[in-house]
Amino acid sequence: MTSTPSIAPAVPLDATEIAALRERFPILAREMNGHPLVYLDSGATSQRPIEVIDAERDYATHQNAAVHRGAHLLAAEATELFEDARATVAAFIGADERELVWTSGATAALNLIAGAIGTASAGLGGAAAERFRLGPGDEIVVTELEHHANLIPWQQLAARTGATLRHLPVDDNGVLRLEAAGDVISERTRIIAFAHVSNVTGAIAPVSELVALAERVGALTVLDACQSVPHLPVDVASLGVDFLVFSGHKMLGPNGIGALWGRRRLLDALPPFLTGGSMITTVTLDGAEFLPAPQRFEAGTQPVSQAIALASAVRFLQAVGMDRIHATEAAYGQRLAAGLAAIPGITLIGPPPGTPRAGLASFDLAGVHAHDVGQFFDDRGIAVRVGHHCAQPLHRRLGLTASTRASSYLYTTEAEIDAFLDAATLVGPFFG
Ligand code: PLP
Repeated sequence: MTSTPSIAPAVPLDATEIAALRERFPILAREMNGHPLVYLDSGATSQRPIEVIDAERDYATHQNAAVHRGAHLLAAEATELFEDARATVAAFIGADERELVWTSGATAALNLIAGAIGTASAGLGGAAAERFRLGPGDEIVVTELEHHANLIPWQQLAARTGATLRHLPVDDNGVLRLEAAGDVISERTRIIAFAHVSNVTGAIAPVSELVALAERVGALTVLDACQSVPHLPVDVASLGVDFLVFSGHKMLGPNGIGALWGRRRLLDALPPFLTGGSMITTVTLDGAEFLPAPQRFEAGTQPVSQAIALASAVRFLQAVGMDRIHATEAAYGQRLAAGLAAIPGITLIGPPPGTPRAGLASFDLAGVHAHDVGQFFDDRGIAVRVGHHCAQPLHRRLGLTASTRASSYLYTTEAEIDAFLDAATLVGPFFG
């Protein structure tokens, strides 16, 4: 008889482990408005450990030079560190380093894909780029819950090419209605772009179902992994998407660095978006030949120290373990959802308690503007995000202009989640 090997679920980080981790993040020792800082805004930007702060400083102190260009030893050292960083970050998502393009962030990466498809649609890029050409009659599909970064570049692409932008709807909780996909995705669909994890609801998208629908009609898939790569194990091969983007500052790294991952054969066929130095083989006064990916998408001087620091962030995350980080935050997500749903006057947005969600939760408090709610928390040292979270269409669909979001990370403690929930029980009566 053969036995099926079982994979034990990851063990969440315990209080002692989290306390030790927190020692690496100097900012977490700060006080705000006379209270210890409770940082619940990692969905917007995460905090940086000493290792990441030092990586950038060390590079500036010892190696700073122009990569890929200089004939001197310093430039060779800088280039080696820069390319090693690419290999580290690519391996983190299960990718080949030749498939990882540095960008300034997820927004830049999404604009790069949409912009390059626009270039192909204008007839540039030769025969290789033909499969990317869009025109009237073609359709681009997004979801109603997208961050503006994964919506506006597609609106612009549709406007430039004459293609039609369609959307997959959400239900009254803001959760994607997969059953509607059959009505929206058709033979005309050329691109499906969607978020892996919603930055508002914390819901995790049905990636394999959407990829299967895309494959059936030959559409390209673009995954906005801004809220997943920092928080859960991500492997591009098992996801099956064609392109994926993420931002360094949401995963313990610095600002100004992010990445676009794409299947190699697609990246090599896609025309460049930005052009200039460092992305060419030969240039004449009349034209230019481009390097293969990733360099063909990396025109100009790159964010070298940021890339090196992002690799340091990745090593930090790997040392803790992405499966354990996910297990910890998934428990926080449930605690937040259940706690908020039980408070009179509060409407939880997103999946109901007990159903899978990432470690964040957003809510509306009847009759009180989210900015006032945010001020109430801030007065108690609790940093949350308020507003439309760059997702106006989703808020409009839910009948809201703004909401309040608490988002956790590996350094968040259970006591902080409870401090937030205690304050959330007081905010209604305070304004009531
Ligand atoms: N997509 C999602 C889901 C996000 O949460 C964010 C940032 O909040 C972005 C895209 C844009 O990321 P960036 O501003 O780092 O480019």
